Amino acid sequence: MTQVNLPKTYDFKDTEQRLYEWWEKTGYFKPDNEPQAQDFDLTKKPFVISIPPPNVTGKLHLGHAMFVSMEDLMIRYHRMKGIPTLWVPGTDHAGIATQLLVERSLVEQGTSREELGREAFVSRTWEWKEKYGGLITQQIRRLGASCDWERERFTLDDGLSRAVREAFVRLYEKGLIYKGPRLINWSPGLRTAVSDLEVEYSEEPGFLYYFKYVLADDPEDYIPVATTRPETILGDTAVAVHPEDERYQKYVGRKVVVPVLGREIPVIADEYVDREFGTAALKITPAHDPNDYLIGQKHGLETINVLDEGARINENGGPYQGMGRFDCRNKLWQDMEEAGLVIKKDPYKLKVPRSQRGGEIIEPMISTQWFISIKPLAEAALKAVREERIQIVPEHFTRVYYNWLENIEDWCISRQLWWGHQIPVWYCDDCGAMIVSREDPAECPTCSCGKLRQESDVLDTWFSSGLWPFSTLGWPDETPDLKYFYPTTMMETGYDILFFWVARMIMFGLEFTGQEPFSAIYLHGLIRDEHGQKMSKTKGNVIDPLEVMDEMGTDALRFTLLVGSTPGKDMNLSTKKVEGNRNFANKIWNAGRYVIGALEKSPAEPEAEPVWTLADSWIWARLQTLVRDVERLFQTYQYGEAGRQIYDFFWSEFADWYLEISKLQLAEGGDRAFYTAYTLVKVLDTCLRLLHPFTPFVTEELWGHLKQAAEAHTSRLSPQGGWEDALIVASWPEPRPEEGWEIEKMADFELFMEVVRSIRNMRAEKKVTPGKKIPALIVAGDKTVLLQGQKSAIAALAYLDEAQVEIRATQDEKPQDQVSLVVSGVEIYLPLVDLVDKEAERERLEKELAEITGQIKRLQGLLSSPFAQKAPPAVVEKERQKLATYVETAAKLKEQLEMLKG
Ligand SMILES: [Zn+2]
Repeated sequence: MTQVNLPKTYDFKDTEQRLYEWWEKTGYFKPDNEPQAQDFDLTKKPFVISIPPPNVTGKLHLGHAMFVSMEDLMIRYHRMKGIPTLWVPGTDHAGIATQLLVERSLVEQGTSREELGREAFVSRTWEWKEKYGGLITQQIRRLGASCDWERERFTLDDGLSRAVREAFVRLYEKGLIYKGPRLINWSPGLRTAVSDLEVEYSEEPGFLYYFKYVLADDPEDYIPVATTRPETILGDTAVAVHPEDERYQKYVGRKVVVPVLGREIPVIADEYVDREFGTAALKITPAHDPNDYLIGQKHGLETINVLDEGARINENGGPYQGMGRFDCRNKLWQDMEEAGLVIKKDPYKLKVPRSQRGGEIIEPMISTQWFISIKPLAEAALKAVREERIQIVPEHFTRVYYNWLENIEDWCISRQLWWGHQIPVWYCDDCGAMIVSREDPAECPTCSCGKLRQESDVLDTWFSSGLWPFSTLGWPDETPDLKYFYPTTMMETGYDILFFWVARMIMFGLEFTGQEPFSAIYLHGLIRDEHGQKMSKTKGNVIDPLEVMDEMGTDALRFTLLVGSTPGKDMNLSTKKVEGNRNFANKIWNAGRYVIGALEKSPAEPEAEPVWTLADSWIWARLQTLVRDVERLFQTYQYGEAGRQIYDFFWSEFADWYLEISKLQLAEGGDRAFYTAYTLVKVLDTCLRLLHPFTPFVTEELWGHLKQAAEAHTSRLSPQGGWEDALIVASWPEPRPEEGWEIEKMADFELFMEVVRSIRNMRAEKKVTPGKKIPALIVAGDKTVLLQGQKSAIAALAYLDEAQVEIRATQDEKPQDQVSLVVSGVEIYLPLVDLVDKEAERERLEKELAEITGQIKRLQGLLSSPFAQKAPPAVVEKERQKLATYVETAAKLKEQLEMLKG
C-alpha cells in the first residue's frame, strides 16, 4: 500500500534539500561520459554550459535565480535526452567589489588597507573569501542547480591564474598589449581606473558657466565660451570654432589667454564644433574630456592634467594647487568674476558620471595604463557571428553586437587595486629593463641584479572572466576535459553583459584556442517588479528569492521565472504569480496522489487487448501533440511558451477532464479500470518528465512514488526499457508521428466537452443548485451515436439524471417550455423553464444568433479571400467545416426563436 507513504500535501521544505543531496551524492550532476573513464567515447557530442560566475561577494538576487533556473532547465533537458551534459560552476573574484568589502571591515576594526600593506591585505582578503565565498554557491544549490561541483573553479585559483598569465604574455609577445598614457575613467574615491560598465550616468541639476576667452593681442576683444566644469579651464590647451563660422573666422590662428593662469593657447578650427550649440566656441581640455582628447590628438595639442589621483588640483593648477575639484570650481569662478571675465551662469541639467561602486563623480583623466589593441581580436569575433559559427538568441541582438565591435576602443586592462591578478611585468630599478614573464623571474636577465619590482597594477576582472569557458577546463594545458568539453555549447546570460563579458569571451576564445568558445548565446531579459519598474533598494520593491523559496518553494519560483521569460525581453514579477505556481505544484501533487490511488482500484493484469474509450484516445492524442510542441519550442529556445503549454495541458485537460472521467471508468472495474489506470500512469509519467526541467523537486519526489507504486502493482505499467533510477536521469519523451486517428478523436471529444460546458454554464446562469440532477433531451443528428456512447460521462460531468437523459437523432415536435441550447449543431433541451423568463430567454438566443452570424460572415469572407488559394487544403477544409457547423447552428437558433414567439 504505497500511497500510505504519500503525504496529503506537498511539503517542499522536507523535500528539496534531501533530493538535492541525493542527486549530488549519486553523481547525477556529473557527465555520464567522463574523459577519464575506461568506456569514454570521444564521438559522443556533449552539451556544455559554463556558468556566468557570480561575484564571490554576491548574495543571491533574482538575476542569479533567473540564469540558474534557465541554465538548469537546459542542462536537465539535455541530460534526459541522454546527451553527456556538463555544467561548470564557479565564482569570480570581483576585484573592486571584494576589495571594497574587505576595506570596509578593516575600517570597522580601526585599521586600513594602507596600514596593513599589500601582502597582509591580500591574505586578509583570502581569509574573507574562505569564510564567506561559499555563501553564493550554497544559495545557487538551493535553486536546484545540477552543476558538477567537483569541477568548481574560482577566477583567482592556481589554474586560472596560470591561464591569465599565459594569455597576457601571449598578447604581449604578439605586440597586442601596450602601456601608455590614455584618457580613462578615473574613480577618485577608489583611486583606480574603472571600466565603462562601472560608470552610471545620472541626471542632476548644475550650471552652465559662460565666460570670456580674451584675445592675447587685443585685451578688448574676447570669444564667449561655456562650460559645466570651470575647474577644467586650468587644463585648456585650445579654443575651437567651426571653420565656416563667420563670427569667429577672424580669430582662427590667433591666441587667447587662459583666465588667472595667463597661459596663451591657440584658437583652432574644427568641423566637430556645433555652430548651433551654446556660444559655438569650445574650450578644449584634452586631459579631462573624451571628445577634447580626440580633438587634441588630431591637432597635436598639449595635454595638461590638472588633477591628482584624489581629484585635487595638482601643480599645473597654479594658485589652486591642493584644492578639491569642487572647491576649485567655486574659487576660480569667483576670481574670474572679480577679473571681469564672467558673462553669466545658467541653471543646467547635467549628465553626471558616477562610480557604480563608490558613488562619487568619475573624472575622465589621462593616466598611464595597460591596454589591449583590440581591433584584430574584434574583427575575428565579428566574423564568427557573421559566418554564423555563433548564433545569438534573440537574433536582433546580433546587430547590437556588430555595432559595438565595429566601434570598439582599445581595452584598458589595468586597475590600481590590490585584489586581483597582478600584472606579470617586472621592472629592474638598476638598469631599467622591463620583463614580461609567465614565471616570477629570480633576477634581471639584462644586468643580473635581483632587485626586481613587479607591476603593482592588477588586471581588470573581465580579463580573467574572458578566459572562463576554456580556463575552467584546464587551458593552457591540453587536458582531457578541454579536448572533450571545449568548445562549449551554450552561453546563457543577461543581455546587459553582452559586451562586457560575452564579446570578450568570443575574442579571447578565438585568439587563444582558435575556436569559438560556444556555438550559441541565449540572452535572457532583466526582471522588473509587477509594474515594470526596475527593482531597487531605494524604491523598496526588491523581491528576495531566498524569502520566496522559504515561503513558497523553489519549484514555484523557478516555474514563475521560466514561464514568464521570453528571450531578450524584460519580465515583470510579482509574488502573486509565484503563489499561483505554488498552487500548480500542489495540483501536480494532488493529481499524483489520485493516480497512485487509482492503481488500487484496478486489476494488475487485463484479460483482453485494450478497448480505448473516447477520453482515453483523446488524452493520449493531446499528450502526443504536447510532446511534439514542447520539443519544437525547446529546439527554438521558446522555453517559456513550452512551460505554459505543459501547464495548460496538465491543469485544463488532464486534471479537469480526464481525471474526472477516469473516476467513472475506474468504477466499471475489470479491463476498463486496468486500461484507465494504465492511461493515468502514462500521462502522469510523461508530464512529470516534461515538467522536470522546470520544477525538478516536486516532479522527482512524485515520480519516485509513482514508480514505486506502479512497480508494486504490476510490471505492465513500466516504461519501455523499465523504470529509470531517478527522474533526473530518466529519458525525455520523444515525439512520435501521428497515426491518423487522432484528429477525429480529438474533434469528437471537443464536441463532448462543448456539450458538457454549455449545460454547466446554463445551470450556473439559471442558478440551479450544483447537486441537483436534472433531465435533458439531446437532439444530435449525425452525432447521435457518438454522444450516446458518452451518455454516462455527460450525465456525470453535467450533473444530469442519467435515467432521464435522452439522446436521439431527430425530434419532430420541439419540446415546449424548455430552455434550449445549440452547440455545434447539437440541440439540447433542459426543463428549466419554470425558472426562465421568456423575454430573457429570447434575448439570450438573439445574442447568440448575432454572434454566430458574425462568425459566419467572417469565415465567408476568409474563404472567398486569397487565403483559400494559399493556405494548405487541410486548413481550408477545416474552416469550411466550421462554417457549415455555424450555418447549421444559426438555423436551429432561428427555429428556437420562432418557437418562443409562437
Ligand atoms: Zn637590470
